[in-house]
Amino acid sequence: MQLIYEKSVSGRRGVHMPASDVPPAAMLPRELLRSEPAALPELSELDVVRHFTQLSRRNIGVDTTFYPLGSCTMKYNAKALEEGAKLSAPFHPMTALLPGGEACSQGSLAMLHHMSELLAEITGMDEVTCQPLAGAHGEMTGIMLIAAYHQAKGNNKKYVIVPDSSHGTNPASAAMVGYEIVTIPTAPYGDMDLEAFEAALNGEVAAVMMTCPNTLGLFNPHIKEICDLAHSVDALVYYDGANLNAILGQVRPGDVGFDVVHVNLHKTFGTPHGAGGPGSGPVGVKKGLIPFLPMPQVIKRADGSFGLITDNPQSIGRTANFFGNFGVMAKAYGYILMLGREGLIDASEKAVLNANYVMARLKDLYELPYDQTCMHECVFSASRQMQHDVHAIDIAKFLIDKGYHPPTVYFPLIVKEAIMIEPTETESKETLDEFIAVMREAAELAEKDPAVLKRAPISTPISRLDETKAAREQNVCFA
Ligand SMILES: *Cc1c(COP(=O)(O)O)cnc(C)c1O
Repeated sequence: MQLIYEKSVSGRRGVHMPASDVPPAAMLPRELLRSEPAALPELSELDVVRHFTQLSRRNIGVDTTFYPLGSCTMKYNAKALEEGAKLSAPFHPMTALLPGGEACSQGSLAMLHHMSELLAEITGMDEVTCQPLAGAHGEMTGIMLIAAYHQAKGNNKKYVIVPDSSHGTNPASAAMVGYEIVTIPTAPYGDMDLEAFEAALNGEVAAVMMTCPNTLGLFNPHIKEICDLAHSVDALVYYDGANLNAILGQVRPGDVGFDVVHVNLHKTFGTPHGAGGPGSGPVGVKKGLIPFLPMPQVIKRADGSFGLITDNPQSIGRTANFFGNFGVMAKAYGYILMLGREGLIDASEKAVLNANYVMARLKDLYELPYDQTCMHECVFSASRQMQHDVHAIDIAKFLIDKGYHPPTVYFPLIVKEAIMIEPTETESKETLDEFIAVMREAAELAEKDPAVLKRAPISTPISRLDETKAAREQNVCFA
């Protein structure tokens, strides 16, 4: 396909602008003006419409395809929520921060405040900041809050404990805040090795970061004990709630003993993500950490109006511009209100049911390294297929030819040739059955005709890429 620049024909126009009636004196200062016109492509409206429509058809998304990308939670995003988010568009985020601006931002501030209250209730926390722009950003904010807590108490802490199944952002976030990372191995049953954890725990541990269910999709039955042990040495416990859709309305991290939690609105509450964002990773904390929360924080006054606290001396400061990704929050807010308490409980039950259904229907053909009831996702290994020199990547590419976005492969790192499937709650049994049939076909081909898998994909505009080069030497030129 030609680039849009290559389609340009000198002098061709889509629209004709009226001549400018802005007096030259009102124009930008001369030194800021272009000396030559911008080299923009010149096309008719129809050329542009066809170009971008064709490009969009090459895109894979949850609106076109089943997208079982484990850990990333690609559930369907209801279109009604876009309408709600549009309502916030006319307001500049600076409005609320200007003198007198609070009065004309009451609706936006009320939404932020209510969103924080809802998330506090859902996670069992005392207060929530909606500022962080993504899960990893929430983690870093949370660990900064924990560091501020220890500093205020005069605690001398050096380490953050993470299990080896954790998402890579966990150790990265803790290291960014300045902690040394202690990694605990996974025991044969799929949870963090408790003995190794106890051996690593001491007075210099600042925090323990847990994902529960973990990236194997398993819920740790010792989670309360882990929280209690951590608290016995004044270490705080961090809950990675990126995939809170696994436990919505079933169990609240705050009730178990967690001190800090982040939630990915773009995985749990059905706001679109992919291609790097935008996301939102609000952070909830227990009482003792409230003084350190980022500013500005929205408050509800005694008279029912909403305002901002901007000057808390103990605050870790601002972690994002303005109020975070407001539009993402508006969609997630709509999602929570639309589903309500029963709807959220139903969503997590279906997410777990769907994952277990896929797991049960594939485990005779694919190795299941941790064979237990799973939560929102299940993790297979392509180790049996490897006997025929077929790897997880070959199965993933074959799925593309069959019209699916592949599951996550090669993560979590502790599973060799991992295939991590997360169907999400929004898929029907029919869709799951069709996907299962294709996965079964792939396992059969691995035995009988592995070459078909090795040469996939054959249906895409570009055939198989060098994965490393594609990631390291990205060419994201204007199409
Ligand atoms: C996605 C994810 C994160 C990071 O979230 P981002 O919004 O991508 O930064 C952290 N932990 C887990 C378990 C995740 O799945």
